[in-house]
Amino acid sequence: MGLTATQEDVKALVDGLNFAEKVERALGLIRQACETYGDRLAVAHSLGKDSCAVWDLAKRVNPDIRGFIVTTRHKPRQTVAFMHETVERYPELQVFRSDAALPERLYETDPDRCCDVLKVEPTRRAIREMKVACWVTGLRCTEGRTRTDFQEVEERDKGLVKLNPILIWREREVWQYLALNGVKVNPLYAQGYRSLGCEPCTRIATGADERAGRWVGTSKCGGECGIHTRPLTSPDGSVD
Ligand code: SF4
Repeated sequence: MGLTATQEDVKALVDGLNFAEKVERALGLIRQACETYGDRLAVAHSLGKDSCAVWDLAKRVNPDIRGFIVTTRHKPRQTVAFMHETVERYPELQVFRSDAALPERLYETDPDRCCDVLKVEPTRRAIREMKVACWVTGLRCTEGRTRTDFQEVEERDKGLVKLNPILIWREREVWQYLALNGVKVNPLYAQGYRSLGCEPCTRIATGADERAGRWVGTSKCGGECGIHTRPLTSPDGSVD
């Protein structure tokens, strides 16, 4: 792994660093990744608040940084409109989606397969086509029960490093960053949403678990679409 992986206790960092220190740490991680991977680095922009913060941080480090958006046929119209606005402003964001034929309402009967086809496969394609060696995400360890076991720098897939520069940020700190830097977000947040996904699989959550409104009523409730948990490259490190 070319980027220095820290073995610091992630939970200790969540409570031990203040907001300004977390911003500096995130900028430092992105800077180091840019120096190491150059053009082979890309930001995965989900159009959620965390990605908006990471994209803004990344642009401060390198205005030429590129990225990709994975969208699906089931995204809410507000998210689609926000995506068009975002891509118009940042044409260096490439959009990937799957138009594969799927059974009606597969998200109710087999959400894992639905996410696999509509989210994981286009993510693999983005990484392959953009020749990405390091992808940068907005994943945070305080988002919910499935996000506690991650590191700031990871190589879960051979030959593909993942940088999670705001891993140790709390929800409040993301909003603090966005407000202080005047970063525009998806208008759905004004309705009370805290974690945004596809329309049929997203509800408003009010408890401690930010992702509790995702896939409500299915075995995936509060879980993951798979881009952070499923393999994105082949075992030999190739991305074909
Ligand atoms: S979030 Fe729901 S609709 Fe979107 S890909 Fe996953 S299962 Fe399908």
